[in-house]
Amino acid sequence: MRLILFGPPGAGKGTQADFIKEKYGVEHISTGDVLREAIKNETEVGLYAKSFMEKGELVPDEVVTEIIRQKISELGEQGFMLDGFPRTLEQARSLDGILTDAGIGIDAVISLEVSDEEVVQRITKRQKIEGRRDDTEDVIRNRLRVYKDQTSPLKGFYEEIGVLHAVAGGGLISDIAERIDGVLKQLK
Ligand code: ADP
Repeated sequence: MRLILFGPPGAGKGTQADFIKEKYGVEHISTGDVLREAIKNETEVGLYAKSFMEKGELVPDEVVTEIIRQKISELGEQGFMLDGFPRTLEQARSLDGILTDAGIGIDAVISLEVSDEEVVQRITKRQKIEGRRDDTEDVIRNRLRVYKDQTSPLKGFYEEIGVLHAVAGGGLISDIAERIDGVLKQLK
């Protein structure tokens, strides 16, 4: 199974990814996690990405696309879910090319639907627990703006090819997990 987890910052993609990974045994690829790890290790990519991330801007397409290209080629036949990629139309087109070259395709895009208000509340709470540097109110608002302008149009892209599944992202974590599970069961 090959999936894309889609939704605004703070939608709960990482949380739900843990459940999906456990139940379906697919690899979780989070571009945000890969980039944060690169920053921690002070790699070339990390040093480059840092300033974009701290402002809540997108890291340039070529950098994240290269990360995804490598991960997907390492995985071979194994299933995966992408979390935080693609985030621009350009990235979606590149992904399409990567998958076509590999002779594989995406089975479903799970779009977690959450209101702006809920997002700001959740991330502010997360900041207190995890202390992520990009979880301050100003940066969150910028990330939401970037999401609306550059990322949300991808829904139309995936709807057109018939793989988009909208899932209500509010309420209990376990309820959301069940809703996603309902979609995934139908794919098999
Ligand atoms: P969130 O979904 O809460 O914004 P992520 O961990 O997915 O958190 O992303 C954090 C930051 O990492 C983004 O604001 C952006 O700067 C960078 N990033 C992650 N994925 C991408 C991507 N596909 N394209 C560009 N930048 C990205």
